[in-house]
Amino acid sequence: MISIDKAKELVIEHRLDRKTVQKRLLEAEGRVLSVPVKAPFGSPQFDNSAMDGFALRWDDVADNDKPTLEIAGESRAGEPWQSKVKDGQAVRINTGAVVPKGADTVVPVENCTVDSGFVSINKARKKGDNIRYKGEEYEKGDLLFEKDLLLNPAVIGALGSIGMGSVEVYKPPKVTIMVTGSELADVEQDEPLKPGQIYDSNRPMLYSFLKKAGVEEIDTMRVKDDRDSTRKAIAAATEHTDMIISTGGVSVGPHDHIPAASRDAGFTTVFHKVAQKPGKPIYFAHRDDCLFWGLPGNPVSAFMTFTYYVYPEICYYLGRDTDFRSHIGRLDKTINNHRERSVLMRVNGAVKDREFTIQPIKRQGSHMLLALTQANGFIAVPPQTEWKQGTEVTFHYFPWQ
Ligand code: AMP
Ligand code: MG
Repeated sequence: MISIDKAKELVIEHRLDRKTVQKRLLEAEGRVLSVPVKAPFGSPQFDNSAMDGFALRWDDVADNDKPTLEIAGESRAGEPWQSKVKDGQAVRINTGAVVPKGADTVVPVENCTVDSGFVSINKARKKGDNIRYKGEEYEKGDLLFEKDLLLNPAVIGALGSIGMGSVEVYKPPKVTIMVTGSELADVEQDEPLKPGQIYDSNRPMLYSFLKKAGVEEIDTMRVKDDRDSTRKAIAAATEHTDMIISTGGVSVGPHDHIPAASRDAGFTTVFHKVAQKPGKPIYFAHRDDCLFWGLPGNPVSAFMTFTYYVYPEICYYLGRDTDFRSHIGRLDKTINNHRERSVLMRVNGAVKDREFTIQPIKRQGSHMLLALTQANGFIAVPPQTEWKQGTEVTFHYFPWQ
């Protein structure tokens, strides 16, 4: 059986090509630029005023005590004054308005007294005051952003300022969630539970996880534990999806049809079974430009295998960091993993008494979903490892933390 590290390696080896898409700027937050962005023009685009006040010629006010100038017109933001400011003239100006020709200084309105078509300048500091000069922040053709940059609100604002109504970003894969299990009832169908039935928790869990990861196109299917209908469902899904994520049906029971049915549908196995707990039966396969993730059915196993393998891959396709956000902390109790498998242990990591402390959650059963909600991350305990209380280990946050 392969190790978790080998499994990760194989997953990376079988990555599909990354695609890109043109995304409306207003909806691009959290996406990653797939191309560098150069300035289509310099900024500011023209000399403009930093204040509300009067644009004038410095020579008219330099040596003059409280000079009085004729108000020749107004330059408003978006409505430049078209003429040239002449000797003895001033032009009323607003913040952001074009500084008219002839003027070289703006005096703020607070330093002026206006009286019937004339303005007295009570105070002017120096030539060039309160003008934001063309190209002072960047010039046309400057590289503003490298590719692979995560778009945050500040970057989106800057892209808006250069007139980009849409941006080229990495495209999330289209995903089909395929839930298997004849015992399952759909929470949305309002189906009453028959004896022995349980509600399907994997579909809502994985759907919300995929949304959280940034996937937009998600299909969901449910199939009974029957090889032929499973094969048909898989074949249908490959027509329109980049990635199928199934849950259940990957173990060795007589009703576990996923690996065989996916091979019937043309997939080639990359691995089946990894030396880990939970999630040992995980299955991974590929076909042309479609990947198949067969996650185990137990909800905690499905959750952990999704977190550990699938989530980082979704991040890869979106151009984001694929590493878990991590923290070094101390174990608050001794952990003994005498198995030949790695344990992906759900834990709670938090600062206690000024030290980052890692506390394994009490119930680690792979069917215990409520216990999972009490963890905020996990640690990977290698096979045959004892970690004494107080050992420093790496804690990984769950992706939404
Ligand atoms: P399987 O991997 O199909 O053998 O399923 C293992 C266990 O997980 C069984 O107890 C199933 O009933 C349970 N299980 C499988 N799929 C789901 C699901 N979608 N929601 C909740 N429990 C499930
Ligand atoms: Mg099953």
